[in-house]
Amino acid sequence: MKQVILNSYPQGEPQVSDFAVVEVAMPVVAEGEVLLETLWLSLDPLIRFALDPVTITGRAHVEPGEVIYGGAVARVVESRNSDFTVGDVVEGRTGWTEYAAVDPARVPLRKIDATRAPISTAVGVMGMPGQTAHACMIGIGRVKAGETVVISAAGGMVGSTAAQIGKILGARVVGIAGGADKCAALLELGLDACVNYKADDFAQQLAAACPEGIDVYVDNVGGAVTLTVLPLLKYGARMPVCGYIAYYGVGMEGPGPDHLPGFMRTIMSKGLEVRGFHGQMVGGQQALEDIAGWIRSGQLQHPEAVVDGIENAPQAFVGIFGNNPYIGKLLVRVAD
Ligand code: NAP
Repeated sequence: MKQVILNSYPQGEPQVSDFAVVEVAMPVVAEGEVLLETLWLSLDPLIRFALDPVTITGRAHVEPGEVIYGGAVARVVESRNSDFTVGDVVEGRTGWTEYAAVDPARVPLRKIDATRAPISTAVGVMGMPGQTAHACMIGIGRVKAGETVVISAAGGMVGSTAAQIGKILGARVVGIAGGADKCAALLELGLDACVNYKADDFAQQLAAACPEGIDVYVDNVGGAVTLTVLPLLKYGARMPVCGYIAYYGVGMEGPGPDHLPGFMRTIMSKGLEVRGFHGQMVGGQQALEDIAGWIRSGQLQHPEAVVDGIENAPQAFVGIFGNNPYIGKLLVRVAD
């Protein structure tokens, strides 16, 4: 069977050469464990945290030579655990491997009801990213009808779901994404406006898209995008800090200049409410109930971009941090 292992710690943005695809023997299943056949791999930015020599955030840590950490949907093909039977479909952080022998007491596994939604959504809209999008807009963002909400990385899984939830709540939703094609696709999803942060006149376009200022800024990115948003925030604006992908891989200090003094001044002088959060915990089960309802009523779409074959996972993962054309959830189909 195939696995993807860490070849070397990425320096900054990950490169394909940081990964290696290897063939290894099938694992042996111990008492209490289950043998899982991976069906879908979830490619999430958070995997990058596990690939640093020092743990800056998150609990997972991968050493060179070890299997890459990450979420997956898998099928139980052998069970030596009375809580699981052959044929069960589960979701858990089981890593980039075609098969895994897993102790559910060590790696939590959630059983998936395949009749409720396509099983791939268990790592997308009906899983952690969906719960996070719900938290951005409801639990943390407290978005109200008529407010202007700006969302960075709006084409990503969290951003594209949060944006649609914003529309369901009656807000005016402005997305920020990298490229005219992405922005066009986001307008088709129902956003009121979308601004390409790679355009030379990004700041002017964003200001024009938010003539009355911004009530809520859902930040997935940080960096230059956020510095452009800050002057447009209204007094008392809420800023759910969902992620900061522009800084993943720069360590704790980054290359400078230090924008922290300016940011602190803006927080104080504008009375900003800046809050980081763990989306899965804030969104909880209620998020999944709400999202299932919105999917059923046709108010929420969940586009997926699918890459075939575990050996193509590194290339697809690297694309998250550079140019990629997709909207929504990025998945690797490992088996049918
Ligand atoms: P995703 O679907 O992989 O989308 C990420 C997108 O970020 C990329 O497609 C890219 O889109 C954009 N991006 C990458 N590098 C960028 C940069 N330097 N500057 C600006 N944009 C950049 O990711 P996701 O699952 O939606 O996650 C989005 C963010 O939320 C990440 O920061 C992630 O770590 C965070 N997150 C947080 C939680 C939580 O519990 N707090 C949970 C899940 C995710 P463009 O083509 O538009 O550049």
